[in-house]
Amino acid sequence: MDMSGYGLVRSTQAAYGNCCSASGCSNKRKSGHRYCDQHKYKLLYRGDAEQQKISLKTVNFARKAVEMLISDNRNNPSWGELMDCIYRNWVSSERYVNAELNSHLGGKPSDRRVRRGLIICYDIFNNLGLEKTFITYCAWQYLHDWNPRLFVTDESFRFQLIKSLRNQAKSYHTQDLDKKTGVPRTYSSPLYMKERETAWMILMGIFGTVGMQLHKQLERRAEKLRSNKDRISNAIKQIE
Ligand SMILES: [Zn+2]
Repeated sequence: MDMSGYGLVRSTQAAYGNCCSASGCSNKRKSGHRYCDQHKYKLLYRGDAEQQKISLKTVNFARKAVEMLISDNRNNPSWGELMDCIYRNWVSSERYVNAELNSHLGGKPSDRRVRRGLIICYDIFNNLGLEKTFITYCAWQYLHDWNPRLFVTDESFRFQLIKSLRNQAKSYHTQDLDKKTGVPRTYSSPLYMKERETAWMILMGIFGTVGMQLHKQLERRAEKLRSNKDRISNAIKQIE
């Protein structure tokens, strides 16, 4: 009699009990998993079972702050030096990703999730380009530094950042294409840990902690955006 499956079931049972592991959740645990359906969904779609959704409005606000910072610094020589350095990293990382993907095509075995992470980077290089990638990367980094409580863990921060870039780069996996219409469903497709970590390592190699270094300057731009918004909404109130 084959008992191997039985052992596995019993060990998850011993480790996680009958209930979902997310705090405050009393739903029944999904068979073989730590979490109930709802929290397992959040793990795959938000990077952590307890991660709240971060609105597009919040991300766009941070993006605007980065765009302002870029346009203010167009003629600043030290900004130019920073961009040159990032550009060199970008070119060598692109070369690395292409070489890895080519050696897979040449028959070298590779992990499919790692490969998927490389393809996400490939699409970022080719479909998104440096400036848009920089804006999104710094926007998320800014949100993270500005309010670390937005993210329940470092993993969920990386997850949100990579997923945001993946969606912008339209990096569709064939399994995410609707079979009937051919339209991608990428916005609702999961991002797996190895995909995320592979893409994160490459982007980290390009940008490092640049968003963090720019934090104070970004905060000033954000402040300007916020007070502009207040001025406009006050003006509207007076018209009404
Ligand atoms: Zn749960």
